[in-house]
Amino acid sequence: MYEKMNPLEIKYYCFLKNDIYMLLVHHTKILLFFYKISKNRKYGILLRKLLLFYRELLFNKLNVKDVYDEILNSIYIKLMNIIKSNNLCILIKNLKTRNIRGFDFFNASALFKNGESFLAVNTGVFFLSHTLVKSIGILLMKNISGEKLPFPIIFSDKFLMKEFIKTTSAIICENHSKARYKMGIIINDDHPLLFGIELFCVAHEYSHLLFKNINNDYSLLNMDKYYNSNLIGLIYSNEEIAADAFAIIIMRHYIEFDDYMDWFLYSPQFLFKILSNCDEITLYPQSKTHPLDIDRYNYIKEMININKYNIYDNEINIIWKKCKKRVNNIFKKYKNNNKIYFPILEEIFNLI
Ligand SMILES: [Zn+2]
Repeated sequence: MYEKMNPLEIKYYCFLKNDIYMLLVHHTKILLFFYKISKNRKYGILLRKLLLFYRELLFNKLNVKDVYDEILNSIYIKLMNIIKSNNLCILIKNLKTRNIRGFDFFNASALFKNGESFLAVNTGVFFLSHTLVKSIGILLMKNISGEKLPFPIIFSDKFLMKEFIKTTSAIICENHSKARYKMGIIINDDHPLLFGIELFCVAHEYSHLLFKNINNDYSLLNMDKYYNSNLIGLIYSNEEIAADAFAIIIMRHYIEFDDYMDWFLYSPQFLFKILSNCDEITLYPQSKTHPLDIDRYNYIKEMININKYNIYDNEINIIWKKCKKRVNNIFKKYKNNNKIYFPILEEIFNLI
């Protein structure tokens, strides 16, 4: 079924499979339904030609090429500067950064290969950070500051809420085509909430590499200067928690955004607040390698320890309450398509 694609394209295609299948089902549902009831082979082969053509169009349209490599690189340089100027820890030698294409995970990883260290971040991390900040992030800032923003149509509650629903649906259904809206035009790439999420993800992965270099001896990192003994116990018990904790310490040393410091430091709490809300709907399969989103939200909140962020969280809860039902409906539709129409698509693609 992957004819005409080279191995690299097949890999990218697999990352985008859900997006492509959802769009194929959306636009050809009736045609697929006819195949389902008739099982007519000739018709199936004809339909296959159409679907292959359409699939290629979608693949070319959705495949993002290298757009985040530059962002990852600039975040990494800033991370190095914070570490160096505050003497926070050792600098890892021969470290290479790599942006991995694909949206299917809100994920990043630290890799060791042939004596070299790689810090790899999935495109989904950047993509979802952008879409989250550009929808609910703006709504949240607008509601909390009470400020009137320019461009009332772009910044209307209704519009931002709609975009937030698309973004959370993208996370939940792993179908991101809905959330690809006007990225880049509403807020700058260096917005503190957005930069905060990205820096947190990169710093978390850097921490894993760092721990490997110091044989997981966390006592060398002076984390007890920042956290109480309960938290230190928790941090020492699990490498993922330690990586979150050290990422937050790195963030605390970033002081460039004086005016926006509030939003910058709030960003990891913001991220896990939203991810744990999404988990409520789906019982979204949890990563085997990281703690549950709700647990991460709880300890990250304690690590950041800024009381006024409770107000921000409450505001997210209010917005979420208004959106939850619609996100749930989208999820139900996705599950239904996945169960009924995805197998039909596979069957037609396999007709020869
Ligand atoms: Zn991790």
